[in-house]
Amino acid sequence: MAARTGEQFLRGLRDGRTVWVGGDKIGSIADHPALAGAARALAAVFDLQHQAADVCLMPDPETGEPINVSHMIPRSREDLQRRHRGLERIAEYSVGLMGRTPDYMNVTYAGFAGRCDEWAINGNERGADNLVRYQKKLAREDISLTHTIVHSTIDVAKGKYPTGFDPVQLHKVEETQHGIVVRGSRVLATLAPFADELAVYPGAPMPNAADAHALSFCIPMDTPGLTFICRDSVAVNTNRFEHPLSSRFDEQDAFVIFDNVEVPRERLFIDANLDVYNTVMKSSWWANIMQQTMIRAQTKLEFAWALASRMAEAINANQPQTQQMLGEIAMFAEFARTAVYAGEQGAREYGNGLWCCDVRPLVALRAALPTWFPRVNEIIRQIGAHNLLTTPARAALADPQLRPLIDQYLTGVGVDAEQRSRLFRLAWDFAGTALGSRNEQYERFYLGSVGRNLTMAQTLLDRGRGNRLVDRFLTEPLEA
Ligand SMILES: Cc1cc2nc3c(=O)[nH]c(=O)nc-3n(C[C@H](O)[C@H](O)[C@H](O)COP(=O)(O)OP(=O)(O)OC[C@H]3O[C@@H](n4cnc5c(N)ncnc54)[C@H](O)[C@@H]3O)c2cc1C
Repeated sequence: MAARTGEQFLRGLRDGRTVWVGGDKIGSIADHPALAGAARALAAVFDLQHQAADVCLMPDPETGEPINVSHMIPRSREDLQRRHRGLERIAEYSVGLMGRTPDYMNVTYAGFAGRCDEWAINGNERGADNLVRYQKKLAREDISLTHTIVHSTIDVAKGKYPTGFDPVQLHKVEETQHGIVVRGSRVLATLAPFADELAVYPGAPMPNAADAHALSFCIPMDTPGLTFICRDSVAVNTNRFEHPLSSRFDEQDAFVIFDNVEVPRERLFIDANLDVYNTVMKSSWWANIMQQTMIRAQTKLEFAWALASRMAEAINANQPQTQQMLGEIAMFAEFARTAVYAGEQGAREYGNGLWCCDVRPLVALRAALPTWFPRVNEIIRQIGAHNLLTTPARAALADPQLRPLIDQYLTGVGVDAEQRSRLFRLAWDFAGTALGSRNEQYERFYLGSVGRNLTMAQTLLDRGRGNRLVDRFLTEPLEA
C-alpha cells in the first residue's frame, strides 16, 4: 500500500477501539457528532496529498511507490526544502489549527529512523531494528499516529517523572511469549480518535526512574486494555457559515490508560532500558521536529495577521492603536518566517547522514510562541470588540423579512452584511470559541510550557560571542 486517500483513512478508523468522549463510549468515530467534522477534515488532508502530489508525495526510496514527503529521511538541505513545501501545504489546510496532523509523527519517526544508531546502544540493537522496520511500515501503509510521551500528574512536588518505581506511570509488568505486558497511564494523546496507532517514546529524560518505566513502542488503537478518555468536545456540529473552524478542526486530546496491554516484541523500540530512553531524544529530535511545528506556527500567524487586518478594514478601524496591534501580529509572523528560513539555511548533518535544521532560531521561536499566541487572540478580541458578536446566522440572513434590515444595519465598509458576518464569525471561532480556547492552551503547552522552553533556550543557545565580549572588560588591563 502507498499514500492513502481520505476514504481509506476513514475505513481504517472502524475498529474496536475504546474511546470515551464525555459520557459516550464511541462506536463509530466518523459518525459521532463530536468527531465527524474532524474525521472528514483529516480525510481531506489524506486526499490533499494526492491533489497536491507534486509537493506532498515522493517515491519510496526502496519500492518507488508514492509516500508522503513527511516520511522522508532528509539527507541534504534540498531535502529539507522539499519537505518544507509538503509540510506547508498540509498546514494550510487547517491554517495551522490542527497541530497534530499525521505529518507531525511522520517527521518524528523519520528522524528516529535517521538516527537509528542512537537507539542501537546498551544492548538495544533489536529495538533499533524494530524501529527502522516500523518507520517503513508507517510510511508505506500511511498510518495515522497519536502519541503520548508525558507522565500523568498526581503530585507535582514529587517531580515530572517517576523517581524509582511508580505504579501510576506507564511501566513494564512482565514478559510474555510474544512480547511484554504494560500497565499505567500517560498524557495527552492529541488526535487519538483519528489515529490508527498509538506511539510511546521518551519525553524528558528521567535519570532516577526504574528501568521498568523506560519504554518505547507503537501499537494499534484497538489493542485490548487500551482506553482513551477524551476531553469534552469543542466541535460545533453546525454548518461552515456559523462555525467555519470548530465545525471541522477539533483534533481532540485524550488521557491514556494502559490496563495490562500486551505489546508485541516486534513493536518494542525500548524495552526497560533507561540508558537508551535518556539519550535518544537529545541530539536531533528538536532540530528535526521543529521544522514541521514551526512551519505550522508560521502558517497560523500569517492567517491571524490577515484575519485581524480584514476585520479592521471591514469596519474601517484605522486608529493608531489598531494599526499598532496589527503590527504586533505582523512582527510575530515575520519573525516566524525568518526563523524557519534561518533554520533551513543553517541546516547541517546531525550524524548518521540525517540532516536537520539549525535548531537555534527554532528554539528561540518556540520559547516565544506560548506568549505570542495568547497575545494574538487578545488582539483579535480587542480589534473585533462587539462586532465579533453581532453576526447574524445563516438562517437569519436567509429570512426574507429580516434580510433587508440586516443589510441596512449590519453592513460594513467594502463588505456586505453576509461577508461581514462570515468574517467576524471566523475571527470569533479563531479566538473566542471553545476551540479558540483549547487552541490557546495547546500553543502554551504542546512542546513544554513557556518556563521550560525559556530555560531550555538559555541553556541550549550559544553564548560564546557574548562571553567573549564580557570577558574583554573583565580581563583588560586596568590602566589605559
Ligand atoms: C492541548 C494540549 C495537547 C497536548 N498534546 C500532547 C500530545 O499529543 N502528546 C503528548 O505526549 N503530550 C501532549 N500534551 C502535553 C504536553 O506535552 C505537556 O502539557 C507539556 O509537556 C507541559 O507539561 P505540563 O502540562 O505538565 O506543564 P508544566 O510544564 O509542568 O507547566 C505547568 C506550570 O508550571 C511551570 N513550570 C513547571 N516546570 C517549570 C520549569 N522547570 N521552569 C519553569 N516553569 C515551570 C510552567 O511555566 C507552567 O506554568 C499536550 C498538552 C496540551 C495542553
